[in-house]
Amino acid sequence: MLPVALFIGVDIGGTKVLATAVSSSGRVRGTAVRTTPGRDVAASLIEDALTEAVQELAGVRRVGAIGIAAAGFVDAQGERVRFAPHLPWRDEGVRARLAERWSAPVVLDNDANCAARAELAHGAVGAAGSAAVVTLGTGIGGALIVDGAVIRGYNGMAGEFGHTQVVPGGRACECGGTGCWEQYCSGNALTRFVREQGVEDLTGREITAAAEQGDPVALAAFASVGEWLGVGLANLVASFDPQIVVVGGGLSAAGDLLLEPARRALRESLVGAEHRTVPPVVRAALGPEAGAIGAADLARQTFRSAGSRARARLRAVRETDRHR
Ligand SMILES: [Zn+2]
Repeated sequence: MLPVALFIGVDIGGTKVLATAVSSSGRVRGTAVRTTPGRDVAASLIEDALTEAVQELAGVRRVGAIGIAAAGFVDAQGERVRFAPHLPWRDEGVRARLAERWSAPVVLDNDANCAARAELAHGAVGAAGSAAVVTLGTGIGGALIVDGAVIRGYNGMAGEFGHTQVVPGGRACECGGTGCWEQYCSGNALTRFVREQGVEDLTGREITAAAEQGDPVALAAFASVGEWLGVGLANLVASFDPQIVVVGGGLSAAGDLLLEPARRALRESLVGAEHRTVPPVVRAALGPEAGAIGAADLARQTFRSAGSRARARLRAVRETDRHR
């Protein structure tokens, strides 16, 4: 019998590369992590980091397929990364290039789409037919689920909520615009808030720990970012009227420190709030690995049938041999 093939999901964000091997029930069987080399480096360096993580994880095992969850605009065909504010890829045919380099089937999608897919299959979306999913990391990723499917849009670029403008002429954003939502509501926004209060540079995790200890600056940082989260969510709920809102990404580890001010601001800002069901705002169930899990799921769903056809052919050949 052929050994069970490994389905790998790789999430590449502005800070790190996370590769996971994922079982069919969405369980993470192993991980490998690399630091993202940066946004102003050669694209080959990013691809080297991806390759190292995949190789470390796969070892000598047979790889069924690899899914890539990229923090950026992926075209509707899942072939090219059009633009990635936090990565050096600019209209590059990433899928085919990595499939050739790795000699393995590869699929590519936006990281938030992958996280939403994972939350739908194994996590917090569950039986809800429609959901808005936002992932708060370095920036904001987003995805919409309608009738149980991730909406990709005409260009494959639906759900880029992080770059909707909430403050005209506001803070400059890596995307080239100003006043984007993620400039006020993200890991970067959290660390900026603390820095502006004259505190030395702290990571999001350190700020979370400080807030849990009752540190007033850290609590104020979460109150600000949480309120901006609720204001932006009110725009999403007004537009799409989802059954549930799921918040994931590294920042969601702060739980109610972040979500309570968000729920308050959502109720206060949402049009017709008193005449409708305001959707619950819940924390993603799968944590920071959701993007990678969703990418592995996408790889499995896309290529499993091809693999089982190959196994069936092999069985047929063996049967023929035995009766010869
Ligand atoms: Zn932007």
